[in-house]
Amino acid sequence: MKIDDALSLIREIPDYPKPGIRFQDITPLLAHGEAFIAITEKFATFADSSTLVAGIEARGFIFASAVANQLRSGFVPIRKAGKLPHLTISESYGLEYGDDTLELHIDAVAPGAKVLLIDDVLATGGTAAAAVSLVEMCSAEVVGLGVVMTLEFLSGREKLQNIQIHSLRSITS
Ligand code: AMP
Repeated sequence: MKIDDALSLIREIPDYPKPGIRFQDITPLLAHGEAFIAITEKFATFADSSTLVAGIEARGFIFASAVANQLRSGFVPIRKAGKLPHLTISESYGLEYGDDTLELHIDAVAPGAKVLLIDDVLATGGTAAAAVSLVEMCSAEVVGLGVVMTLEFLSGREKLQNIQIHSLRSITS
């Protein structure tokens, strides 16, 4: 399936989770096997088996674990505060709707490792920037950020100036 046909399955839910937010609902895409694999195969071209694939909770996990499997490489979860059982490092950030903290297991990413970060939506960039910080705190390298969509009007790219962003769709307004 073509990437654009897969992306066309994403639906916009107005005023969710609060008024003014146009939520990008990826669940119809995930429910379509050919669409899901088209997206994850595309992300897999941005890395190889020497690269860890890190997913950002929660929707990033869905794509990142599939990509890691295709590459036969490892998957690392970057989670919201309090969810990881072992010692963590953490980074706080503001997002389009609220504030949050991301955490990474202290031993999940070795110094010098190469990491492909994956999430569904790049909005203000706070979430992805916090994830980048966590990887860099481990003295590892973010080789790219794969996102299904970028909400360009929220200027998230400005917070990620040194990061190679692989965005499959730009939403400009
Ligand atoms: P931000 O930190 O502002 O770039 O927000 C990105 C994070 O929030 C991602 O993990 C997305 O899953 C989620 N997110 C932000 N805005 C939206 C949106 N309009 N639709 C779906 N998810 C969103």
